[in-house]
Amino acid sequence: MAKTALLEPGATGTPHPLTPSVWRVAGRKVETADVVTLSLSREPAAPFDFRHGQFNMLTALGVGEAAISISSSPGAAGPIEHSIRDVGAVTHALCNLPVGGAVGVRGPFGKGWDVEAQLAAGRTDVVVVAGGIGLAPLRSAVRDLVERQQRGEVRLFVLVGARSPDQIVFAEDVAAWRAAAARARDAGFDIVEVHCAHGYLNHQFLSPLVNARNDAYGGDRAGRMRFPLEVAEAVRAEWPADKPVFVRISAVDGLDGGWELADSVAVCGELAACTTDSEKLAGAWPWFSTTIVPSPL
Ligand SMILES: Cc1cc2nc3c(=O)[nH]c(=O)nc-3n(C[C@H](O)[C@H](O)[C@H](O)COP(=O)(O)OP(=O)(O)OC[C@H]3O[C@@H](n4cnc5c(N)ncnc54)[C@H](O)[C@@H]3O)c2cc1C
Repeated sequence: MAKTALLEPGATGTPHPLTPSVWRVAGRKVETADVVTLSLSREPAAPFDFRHGQFNMLTALGVGEAAISISSSPGAAGPIEHSIRDVGAVTHALCNLPVGGAVGVRGPFGKGWDVEAQLAAGRTDVVVVAGGIGLAPLRSAVRDLVERQQRGEVRLFVLVGARSPDQIVFAEDVAAWRAAAARARDAGFDIVEVHCAHGYLNHQFLSPLVNARNDAYGGDRAGRMRFPLEVAEAVRAEWPADKPVFVRISAVDGLDGGWELADSVAVCGELAACTTDSEKLAGAWPWFSTTIVPSPL
């Protein structure tokens, strides 16, 4: 019969899959009003093998147990991550665990996704569609696929839905673009380019063929331009005033109902407005390298 007691830290031997072992909260990050990501460490440290898409059973001690997907990547060093939405007794207790707090872990469970096998079978066009906390189980696979896309091994399209703008941490995304500009500046580059073309994230906001949001970041052209403009503004603010920022756009989507030339003229006007007077005096307007391509969307 399966043991039901928690394995204490330092216990030897392989725990029975039905027996939770005690892990510690190494870090916690508040993602949105009701989602927290916990980084969990095993004590003592030991390898923990899992695949993309698998989940653990997490125990909030004295409350109960819930299935939570592993949202960090297999093979990544350090604690493993779980993103948890506070919906009931167990998830509420887990979301409120302090750093250093104990949590029971058993797993991993579920078959997981064999990304390698899919790619080996020639399935290299990948579309990921997720909503809200549903992105958590996909996160590790998406990270892996992004790296593969950078190596030219796959074409990846990620569509994420959320109920409202505050459910997506845009501020963090914009800060990441700003930080990238700062790194490029510190590395001594003379030009930085914000990529808003070719179906990548900023283009997905711009194009009415893809952006189906009904919040402040979608709808009419002003709404669809909002995120790319926030990014461009953040990069412009970080970048030295005497150096140019390029913004690459796909001037037209090339499909009925898509982004048109008049839209490109409008976004160029908005981008020009991002420059300060001193930048205009220094001749550092944002420059545009526009590329007209059939839409990959
Ligand atoms: C394979 C798998 C992977 C998962 N991965 C994740 C993940 O990565 N992140 C994540 O956040 N979740 C994930 N979940 C979902 C998670 O397991 C559940 O949200 C969790 O078990 C809920 O437990 P709870 O005790 O917190 O909530 P519960 O108390 O079970 O409540 C769940 C819902 O039911 C409602 N409810 C409870 N009691 C009543 C009642 N008497 N009358 C009316 N409504 C009631 C609650 O208000 C709440 O909306 C996953 C689930 C599975 C199966």
